[in-house]
Amino acid sequence: MSSKKVAVITGSSKGIGKAIALTFARSKEYSAIVINARKLEEAEQVVEEINNTTECDSAAIVGDVSQETDCIRLIEETVTRYRRIDVLVNNAGIQKDIPLTETTLQDWYNIISVDLTGPFVCSREAVKQMKTQNDPAGGCIINISSVHQIIPKPHYVPYATSKGGIDMMTKTMALELAADKIRVNIVAPGAIDTDMNMSLRTDTLELEETLKKIPIGRIGKAQEVADVVDFLASSKASYITGSTFVIDGGMTLYPSFGLDHSHDSNHIFPKDSSK
Ligand code: NAP
Repeated sequence: MSSKKVAVITGSSKGIGKAIALTFARSKEYSAIVINARKLEEAEQVVEEINNTTECDSAAIVGDVSQETDCIRLIEETVTRYRRIDVLVNNAGIQKDIPLTETTLQDWYNIISVDLTGPFVCSREAVKQMKTQNDPAGGCIINISSVHQIIPKPHYVPYATSKGGIDMMTKTMALELAADKIRVNIVAPGAIDTDMNMSLRTDTLELEETLKKIPIGRIGKAQEVADVVDFLASSKASYITGSTFVIDGGMTLYPSFGLDHSHDSNHIFPKDSSK
């Protein structure tokens, strides 16, 4: 039995998923990392970077996590190639800013099937494999959710619903799988600088509005999310399951209830009547 781990990270050709893949590969804890995305070219670039700069092996398995057959194939091909799976990170996700009344059933299904159904099917298939390994070190699933599993956001109905669903899916799986030594946790980022947040790089007004909601006063980096995922996947987190780790510079502290961080940092809002 290899003492090093094999990890599958969905949506790992760029952004947060890529940062997780590179962090795992550099940690020396892994023998192999599977990179997944729909587009081969970007996935291959990450594979090349891992294979050229670390001692870890890497391969790209292209697939769309909204498709059950692709999720099944992702897990099967990983096992064929590397014989095991120790860590699954359900990271692939999409969102669309759209008012409720303009949200078509297709929009709803598109987002729910990538952000919620994909993690369900990938987890189900990975768990089948993890159980056969009967490894005393157990297995680990990390779901990349969002602060919007906690904070509702107008125009984000399918996205926030998916991420809220991930919360209960994670807790339920954690309870069901604890006896099998499979830990299931969530990392929930706030505003992170990736292509998903392209507008924050180009729209100063939107950036300003977003920063008002972040007590730490800046956008997060993909690496800051990856470092927490790396910890949760490691033996240092062996007693953690069913938990959510929010990486948001304090966004879920609801800054508007405290100091006005956009102006004079000593200004305190007048008392309101809410408790
Ligand atoms: P990103 O930069 O847009 O990258 C998304 C990745 O997922 C890409 O590799 C993309 O590659 C892949 N992907 C998209 N749809 C897929 C599908 N159907 N099947 C397989 N792969 C797919 O996004 P990100 O910002 O890194 O976000 C990663 C995760 O973090 C998501 O779950 C997102 O909801 C969550 N999150 C992000 C933020 C943020 O501020 N960035 C905040 C909260 C939560 P292809 O296009 O080639 O498939």
